[in-house]
Amino acid sequence: MINAVLAEYVENKKMTDFLSPILSQNNKFITDIDMLKDYGIKWDTDTYPAIKQVIKKFPFKITPYYLSLAASNKLNNDPILLQCLPDAREIINKHNFCNDPLHEDFTHSPVPKLIRRYPDRAVIIATNKCAVFCRHCDRKRFWNNGNMDINKKELEEIVLYLRARPEIRDVIISGGDPLMLAPDVLEEILWQIQRIKTIDIIRIGSRLPVTMPMRITKELCTMIAQYGPVWLNTQFNSPMELTRDAAVACNNLLMAGIPVNNQSVLIKGVNDSLETMKKLLRGLLKIKVRPYYLFHCEPVDGVEHLRTPVIKGLEIISSLYSTCSGLGIPRYVVDVPSGAGKVPIDSNYIVDIKPGTITLKTPGGATIHYPDQDQRYKYYKIE
Ligand code: SF4
Repeated sequence: MINAVLAEYVENKKMTDFLSPILSQNNKFITDIDMLKDYGIKWDTDTYPAIKQVIKKFPFKITPYYLSLAASNKLNNDPILLQCLPDAREIINKHNFCNDPLHEDFTHSPVPKLIRRYPDRAVIIATNKCAVFCRHCDRKRFWNNGNMDINKKELEEIVLYLRARPEIRDVIISGGDPLMLAPDVLEEILWQIQRIKTIDIIRIGSRLPVTMPMRITKELCTMIAQYGPVWLNTQFNSPMELTRDAAVACNNLLMAGIPVNNQSVLIKGVNDSLETMKKLLRGLLKIKVRPYYLFHCEPVDGVEHLRTPVIKGLEIISSLYSTCSGLGIPRYVVDVPSGAGKVPIDSNYIVDIKPGTITLKTPGGATIHYPDQDQRYKYYKIE
């Protein structure tokens, strides 16, 4: 069983070894599916050739830590394995989804490694390295691109672009996972961005608190915090990911003054039930991580089998309103194809607005006529 093998691995303190800060050493990761046999994971002979095909297009990579979170070795039934093991359905692409539905690479990239979809924000693609290749990722197209770490020239060009556009107030360092960069490379990026006086905040998008939390050391957090205000957005999708190690990582960030928000993805078989979502959201609050977004899984090539209907997300979110503290309810959004931006797709609780009265539908389904003093609108049509 997976857990028995890995528990022993952790017990023997080999994890310290594995957590060497020299992250470029790929032998700290499992990238060969045949090695999974040691952990009790194997595909049947009919499926195995298809899996081999899948990983040519969408490679496999995982940390022993993340693998240790799996509760079983049931390939299609475990919320951890569903997120990290290749699946034969990844190369079927029944609906002809493209690999860049948000048109990040061309339409919205004014200079290499920079994405700008909003007037006041920009995203730096700092690397394509990740600790785990998440099967639901919307940037799977980067995985086979070789080394995409940002270089000096690219960073200079980005800084020039940002300096010339003072309306950009918020820079998101993303990837891949920017915390996979060597600390001095990450520090250089932070330093360069912080020096631009018109930038108010820096955000880092990283899944390492989930996939390799031991990398989030106090030292790393202290270094990052120097260039604050820095916020960190992470991605816990399953309550099984809320381990003691993950809590320590988030606490290290918080103690350094780096607020941590969570951006879950709604994934079939992982978190598409009210009970699981509640457990996840309550668990996040317990480790002081704010549930920020619940993203609908995007229509990306290789991800189709993990998508749920939008109505499923709506049902979950609607039910959360009556069963969960408002602090723990994320905003459910769709990132619209072609890069037109995020659209909240919350249930509409406003039925009608007339002078003096707003008619509301409660999450429990009751209709309430709520008195409103504002007489400005004769009639407001709910589109
Ligand atoms: S860590 Fe983020 S960028 Fe990397 S594979 Fe997972 S979702 Fe994609």
